[in-house]
Amino acid sequence: MTTAFFTDTRFAQHTLPGHPEHAGRLTAIQKRLEESGIIQDFMLIDPREATSEEIQRVHTTEYLDVLQWIASQERTVGLDPDTYVLPESYELARIGVGGLLNVVDAVMKKRADNGYAAIRPPGHHATPTRGMGFCLLNNIAIAARYAQAKFDLKRVAIVDFDVHHGNGTQDAFYEDPSVYFISSHQSPLYPGSGSLLDIGSGAGHGFTMNIPLPAGMGDAAFETLYQRLVLPALARFQPELMLISAGFDAHWRDPLANLQLSLPMFANMTRWLIQTAQVLCEGRIIFVTEGGYDLEVLSHANLNVGCALLGQDTVHDPIGKAKQNPPLDNDLLEQLLNRHELG
Ligand SMILES: [Zn+2]
Repeated sequence: MTTAFFTDTRFAQHTLPGHPEHAGRLTAIQKRLEESGIIQDFMLIDPREATSEEIQRVHTTEYLDVLQWIASQERTVGLDPDTYVLPESYELARIGVGGLLNVVDAVMKKRADNGYAAIRPPGHHATPTRGMGFCLLNNIAIAARYAQAKFDLKRVAIVDFDVHHGNGTQDAFYEDPSVYFISSHQSPLYPGSGSLLDIGSGAGHGFTMNIPLPAGMGDAAFETLYQRLVLPALARFQPELMLISAGFDAHWRDPLANLQLSLPMFANMTRWLIQTAQVLCEGRIIFVTEGGYDLEVLSHANLNVGCALLGQDTVHDPIGKAKQNPPLDNDLLEQLLNRHELG
């Protein structure tokens, strides 16, 4: 199996001391991939800056003008209380997206079987009109639009298992039946959106799936969700490319949230998604980093993604499972199955 991999040490320049979304996150991943030796098994992908045209398939000119203006300042600007922008940040965000688009090229042109982009800042909260929640450019949404524009894809699926709702990605495709967006997330939690009732509108009705979960849900609940809901929904949609917003803040030890997933269950979900891509779209699947704020969890989780993409069976888990493992509430499952006509 050939896995196209992109990361860049320059992302470390985007960091604010004391902020949970800091340079150490990617450094921890990079170190783990190097120490394990797995990095030598990847096809390394060169960086490039995404063009304005590529970014504007998702974001408005007005918003990009704001980022451009900040780049001309000599200080850190907060887009909101959570989201910092340094003068270098816009350029770095463009490099993050550009590298991801090079990964899309490698997979779509069959130079690689699948792909993986370890990039910062994260993207899934960034809406077409604003950055928020640590995110500046919506990396995965721009990648979906790029794949559609360049390779004429009719159906792209995005699965987001970050513990927070991928509100920005949802906004980008809410009325669009060509991109199926599936988000599982803790609720209530930041950013507060992602109701089970929100399933898309207009032509996009039925092409957004929100799975809001109460705090405390973990491995058992996710196994049910994937087997009963997420994987059948993907099989029905028949994507030509799958993109995964791979945040690992739904792990039980993450400091920012209260779901209870373990590293082995993340590894299972990863393998189920890879197998689904093999059945549905010749294995074309690309993982993109989002959140995850316990560095030991984050680094092992990303190592496990790398192993799974390469077709290796190894699962690393020095941390163990949560003490509680409650089943998914049956009413919630029934509501989701009915709402999405998967019963
Ligand atoms: Zn998150």
